[in-house]
Amino acid sequence: MIYADNAATTKMSNEAVRVMVSVMEETYGNPSSLYSIGQRAKEVLEQARADVASVIGAEAKEITFTSGGSEADNQAIRSAALLGAAKGKKHIISSAFEHHAVLHTLNKLAGEGFEVTLLPVHENGIVVPKEVEEAIREDTCLVTIMFANNEIGTIQPIREIGSICRSKGVLFHTDAVQAVGHLPINVTEDNIDLLSASGHKFHGPKGVGFLYARKGVRLSSLIEGGAQERSKRAGTENVPGIAAMAAALKESAASMEKASAVTKARRDRLIAGLSEIPHAALNGDPDRRLPGNVSFCFEGIEGESLLLLLDDKGIMASSGSACTSGSLDPSHVLLAIGRVHDVAHGSLRLTINEETSDADIESIITAVKEVVSYLRGFSPVWRDLTEGKAKHIL
Ligand SMILES: *Cc1c(COP(=O)(O)O)cnc(C)c1O
Repeated sequence: MIYADNAATTKMSNEAVRVMVSVMEETYGNPSSLYSIGQRAKEVLEQARADVASVIGAEAKEITFTSGGSEADNQAIRSAALLGAAKGKKHIISSAFEHHAVLHTLNKLAGEGFEVTLLPVHENGIVVPKEVEEAIREDTCLVTIMFANNEIGTIQPIREIGSICRSKGVLFHTDAVQAVGHLPINVTEDNIDLLSASGHKFHGPKGVGFLYARKGVRLSSLIEGGAQERSKRAGTENVPGIAAMAAALKESAASMEKASAVTKARRDRLIAGLSEIPHAALNGDPDRRLPGNVSFCFEGIEGESLLLLLDDKGIMASSGSACTSGSLDPSHVLLAIGRVHDVAHGSLRLTINEETSDADIESIITAVKEVVSYLRGFSPVWRDLTEGKAKHIL
């Protein structure tokens, strides 16, 4: 079996599992309780906060734990929108290929009187900082641009965009769920005001994440209740999950440089191998992409059939994001980089990590070549293309 869907979720590391179980067994107190086991849970929680903060160059009190990336995105955007509205600023800038946690929140805000500008991401899947600058208006309260895209893996010029926002006095949020634990991040140097992350994308548990909010950027709570998380998020803290997430993040940060070099080399071999398939194209910039991301479109096939046949061969991949699979709409990300519907339907995302071996890479290349040519064998779309009744695009 080859697991090549690490952008959808990752396997928990042994250390994260160990920490989680140990907290569940030994430090099960409520961090708000005053007796010793509660206070020990509180210490575990605060140590995790300090650990998470130090990986991204933040201070512990700038970290709020959430139930994951989606909640962090919602809270960051809602908070910035509220701060903006209080000053009569109701314009938000984002990009066309954000995660749905961002896009759907922006849609809601658009229904509540906010105006949203979605910038293009161009053929290479990268936002142009100059276009961010040109889109900023007197009434802009927030720019939200993802650090790295979850489908095509392209890395955005975050530092430049942050610097523009800083100089214009506009808050800058980044959905860094795909980047944290995989790319070096320093919220100060990168000029970031708000940042979302999720434990299960870097070998931590599912259902836990965090939101960084720079000192002075006031978060509003999405959940009413107790005074946990300095009243920014009510509810008894998920101490085992939070501790395990922090353990996973520390590990990822420590091994990042080495893991990234190994993974990049294998990624590039995989890209080279799949590029031998006729009428296929890599999605997104070949260099400015996550170390483990390979995303292709193949003409004349259906991504879903491709996935099922690869699964038969023990290879787990994805076509577009996990959230879009199951629906017939092609991925908004692929449409945003200019893929037409038919081509966007024939997409394949393979997200590898440092544990994907060289042999795995060769097996994936062989399997994808076989399956693509098998499927094209009885595809009417492919027949039209080969008979010249339709024109090749790729
Ligand atoms: C996975 C993902 C999310 C959602 O995170 P959850 O913890 O699953 O809610 C948000 N943004 C991006 C870019 C992601 O990849």
